[in-house]
Amino acid sequence: PSKQRLLVVANRLPVAAVRKGEDSWQLEISAGGLVTALLGVNEFETRWIGWAGVNVPDEVGQRSLTKALAEKRCIPVFLDEEVVHQYYNGYCNNILWPLFHYLGLPQEDRLATTRSFQSQFSAYKKANQMFADVVNEHYEDGDVVWCHDYHLMFLPKCLKEYNIEMKVGWFLHTPFPSSEIHRTLPSRSELLRSVLAADLVGFHTYDYARHFVSACTRILGLEGTPEGVEDQGKLTRVAAFPIGIDSNRFIRALELPEVKDHIRELKERFAGRKVMLGVDRLDMIKGIPQKILAFEKFLEENPVWRDKVVLLQIAVPTRTDVPEYQKLTCQVHEIVGRINGRFGTLTAVPIHHLDRSLDFHALCALYAVTDVALVTSLRDGMNLVSYEFVACQDEKKGVLILSEFAGAAQSLGAGAILVNPWNITEVAASIGYALTMPADEREKRHQHNFMHVTIHTSQEWAETFVSELNDTVVEAQLRT
Ligand code: UDP
Repeated sequence: PSKQRLLVVANRLPVAAVRKGEDSWQLEISAGGLVTALLGVNEFETRWIGWAGVNVPDEVGQRSLTKALAEKRCIPVFLDEEVVHQYYNGYCNNILWPLFHYLGLPQEDRLATTRSFQSQFSAYKKANQMFADVVNEHYEDGDVVWCHDYHLMFLPKCLKEYNIEMKVGWFLHTPFPSSEIHRTLPSRSELLRSVLAADLVGFHTYDYARHFVSACTRILGLEGTPEGVEDQGKLTRVAAFPIGIDSNRFIRALELPEVKDHIRELKERFAGRKVMLGVDRLDMIKGIPQKILAFEKFLEENPVWRDKVVLLQIAVPTRTDVPEYQKLTCQVHEIVGRINGRFGTLTAVPIHHLDRSLDFHALCALYAVTDVALVTSLRDGMNLVSYEFVACQDEKKGVLILSEFAGAAQSLGAGAILVNPWNITEVAASIGYALTMPADEREKRHQHNFMHVTIHTSQEWAETFVSELNDTVVEAQLRT
């Protein structure tokens, strides 16, 4: 029998397109979390539907790009600049992203956002409808349609309006906030109702799923059951599906000569010092200033450690055209400069801060030589960096200090040292504890997490979600 077709719909396609001529395109695979998660899944015949990240106003360009993408099993949705501005920069990144991560906006931004809300929400709905049109055009009976993330909350409803028989799942990669937060959103009910049109709704953690169900019961007055949300006899199944990583990809990489060389170099460079590591997009949610302040406090209170530990912070630039993010960059640079000025010597500084990304092999080498990884997210859907670190630590058995506000705290809590990133006294004490932890305790904690990361892989995550979606639809048919 032929494989079931899986249509994965996400805002961005897993390839970035660069125009080389009127009808020629250069395509680059961009290996984000979702892409690598689904690469290992062979059970389905997968197609991707999404925006290619470029504005293509002309028909020649659209036709040639569509053709080029087809070879990568990708189907483009063409969004014009104005829609992208209002839907993506506006509603998605300026409204939903901060709200879902419990971030407040500065007062003047809040008023501006309030004023532009309606037009941005309209653009959001319009963009979601454009995604639905493309899905509908390519849909075949029996396909599974899997919608991803906060960009596409309106999509399940649009799809079901086209075809009530379509199997539709929706998964959120960010936290879903407490209903008290969601309640402040002017479009609160409409968004919930459109998500509920899906057959299966998934979150990374049980808490996020519970928040979603509460929002539906309190805001919409629907009934929450252990299975999900019920509306006049129609059940939308709601459950937690914690994502994982392709752990073998990391473990294998450590065996490559190139990575081994890199590891050797790093070990030489930092000989005699313990290595602490942070790897984050430079986003407000990652708590980078809090992390660095805690490290400063640790150095302040522990003079003997000042020339014996180094913090490597990789801060990957993101949304660099947004003033809030520019401000954060300046803020972090200022704190790093102050601390290096204060505790540095002529030959060494305590913090190496990089404003750039690393390639996969360099990242693996860094993970492998790290003694203590520091994840201090103020809110984070899951946080894959913590998983990747664990996967690369089977030799060293380093310590993971992990924010209790990252989804990963639910799965790696047994092996990590959990902290409240807002409490820098606690984080500083945890740094001291981690740096001096006896080998047997490190080993035990690592084993716990390593087991988790190698068993609950991204592949398992994707297969579980889709088979649950298939089952949900069958059960619904049996009920009627
Ligand atoms: N990453 C990367 N290059 C870098 C630093 C990080 O490709 O220089 C990747 C990292 O391997 C991880 C992802 O970026 O897979 C970050 O995912 P995470 O869930 O930790 O946070 P997000 O950025 O999605 O909020």
